[in-house]
Amino acid sequence: MKKVYLDNAATTAIHPEVISAMMDVLQNDYGNPSSTHSFGRSAKTLLESARKTIAKLLNAQASEIIFTSSATEATNWVLRSAVKDLGIKRIITSKIEHHATLHTVEYLAKEFGIQVEYIAVLPTGNIDYQDLAAKLLVDEFTLVSLMHVNNEIGTILDIKRVSDLCKYAKALFHCDTVQSIGKTSLDVQDLGIDFLVASAHKFHGPKGIGFVYIKKNSMLQPLFYGGEQEKGMRAGTEAVHQVVGMAKALELACANLENDTNYISELKNYCFSQLKKVFSEVKINGENTFYNLLNIQLPLSEEKTSMLLFTLDMKGIAVSRGSACQSGSIKPSHVLAEFLSAEETNKPSLRISFSHFNTKEDIDLLIEALKTV
Ligand code: PLP
Repeated sequence: MKKVYLDNAATTAIHPEVISAMMDVLQNDYGNPSSTHSFGRSAKTLLESARKTIAKLLNAQASEIIFTSSATEATNWVLRSAVKDLGIKRIITSKIEHHATLHTVEYLAKEFGIQVEYIAVLPTGNIDYQDLAAKLLVDEFTLVSLMHVNNEIGTILDIKRVSDLCKYAKALFHCDTVQSIGKTSLDVQDLGIDFLVASAHKFHGPKGIGFVYIKKNSMLQPLFYGGEQEKGMRAGTEAVHQVVGMAKALELACANLENDTNYISELKNYCFSQLKKVFSEVKINGENTFYNLLNIQLPLSEEKTSMLLFTLDMKGIAVSRGSACQSGSIKPSHVLAEFLSAEETNKPSLRISFSHFNTKEDIDLLIEALKTV
């Protein structure tokens, strides 16, 4: 049975060149980057060269990139330190953010008594920019936390528009670019972001490694304490092989951006047109969504709904019904619940997310499997 992986928003297959770069480090460069002997210096050189590669791809300075274990850690760090050390009194976010943001904000509100405001979400699955502008009129030291591409429905934030509003209101802007980095070009200078978080496993890199871009002179303080790694900003011996793998993955993704974008966009269009042939009433959740993600509502009865993911899984097909963290749970997605009617959230929704490793054959297999549900 051919297995079909169409859950690339949850995680991606590691690129073979990334594996080979990582293996090379594991075998040959096991030194601790903090050691001063040649083994350590060699590891340190790899680390700094990876940092420069990532910084260049984002038009950032190398000193503005700090490695973390994940985007979740990076988001926790930025939001916590913004409140604790920078004096942020209010966070504006939306209810369709990833739980890495939502749950962190909830805890910060409990712990520090900060005010939290949620921007209205339009029926298109996009945030209401006018509501954001209105909320920013209040004179309170504020941080805005919004994701670039939504991991469940693929709606796209106009980063520049948000950063302009933030600049005008003297608010800080934290942007979760986990789903977009390596899939579209991002220039932090141009976009005016203060903090950006990313995770390697979403762009064909390894799991357990991510980074945060922290705009120069942001005065952020460490999340935890220990050694002097990452200039004291993130203690703990650096996972050099992971970092090298992440930089290699981002480099490859950016080098092939145009081809991959065209190829994946075509797969998405093909998928929807084939779905339409079988389910004439199929509907896309969200409008103007990102090219690698299709969240659809299927016109299936309740009995069939419960069998849907199970049937696909039995046939070796991996898709998701909501965000990765919710796969297998029966709770309605917090994102869909925010902008769909109760009747619509009761219908089965599937998140199909593509990568350049997918083919039209994968989509044909998905459609054949769906016909049997
Ligand atoms: N933000 C978004 C939009 C995501 O999709 C994810 C992963 O599912 C995360 C944050 C968390 O990333 P990590 O797995 O690196 O903690």
